[in-house]
Amino acid sequence: MSNFLAGKRALILGVASNRSIAYGIAKCMHEHGAELAFTYQGDKLKPRVEKFAGQLNSSLCFPCDVSDDANIEQMFTELDKHWDKFDILVHAIAYAPGDMLEGDFLTNMNKNGFLQAQDISVYSFASLAKHAQPRLNPKGSLLTLSYLGAERVVPNYNVMGVAKAGLEASVRYLASDLGPSDIRVNAISAGPIKTLAASGIRDFKKNLKLNEQVTPLRKTVSIEEVGHSASFLCSDLASGITGEILYVDAGYHIVGLPALSE
Ligand code: NAD
Repeated sequence: MSNFLAGKRALILGVASNRSIAYGIAKCMHEHGAELAFTYQGDKLKPRVEKFAGQLNSSLCFPCDVSDDANIEQMFTELDKHWDKFDILVHAIAYAPGDMLEGDFLTNMNKNGFLQAQDISVYSFASLAKHAQPRLNPKGSLLTLSYLGAERVVPNYNVMGVAKAGLEASVRYLASDLGPSDIRVNAISAGPIKTLAASGIRDFKKNLKLNEQVTPLRKTVSIEEVGHSASFLCSDLASGITGEILYVDAGYHIVGLPALSE
């Protein structure tokens, strides 16, 4: 593995298990030479995230529930004690109430759930960017995770699709605002991967099976494939790329009509 992230410090938000996309990204960034710090959502996840951090040569783990701006502020105050500046922030966080991730959008949405999805899955990225801005080195990079449901209708994705559309728009506005400070902002639109968050979406397994059959690469992507692409996007190798939504989905997004067998 080449060390193209050597000398970079990356703050990773969103590890919940060793299946998390954030875990795949952290593992690959570590392989490519980055120094890591982690956050976890609540005390329940603390031991697990600390264990993963240790395996990746990091002792920096801080609590951070992104639904509370004070919590975000506090996390950065703690991080400041260890890192004066850093280079990369990875936001791999999303949430919507489970009963809205089934059936149709119109019937199952309500104001509270809609706003909660926007708060945790969209606003948090902008809030983190605001806090990170004065702490990022030039050539810094912010990355978030999206899904095709942002731009096309995907059954059961519902309020999360609307949230991801807002997240992708946020990527473009943040890229425009932070570009003059030499900070890049991008998203990866990942294909379906079996994680804790994905298990909350009705019929998710059927989506995985369909992807295996119809993507140009005839497979679903792994967290490591997302992780290597994330490492590239957040490295100086991608210094000309900002405001981009990069598909890491085995090519699913280009398919109009799946290949028809006899
Ligand atoms: P995951 O369950 O492993 O990770 C989701 C993370 O969000 C968890 O670590 C959880 O603790 C965190 N989170 C939720 N609410 C939070 C809060 N209030 N404060 C702080 N953290 C909070 O699932 P994942 O699939 O790895 O999800 C990571 C990102 O990837 C999400 O944005 C998801 O929408 C996106 N994504 C996932 C897929 C997929 O198929 N798994 C595909 C495309 C995009």
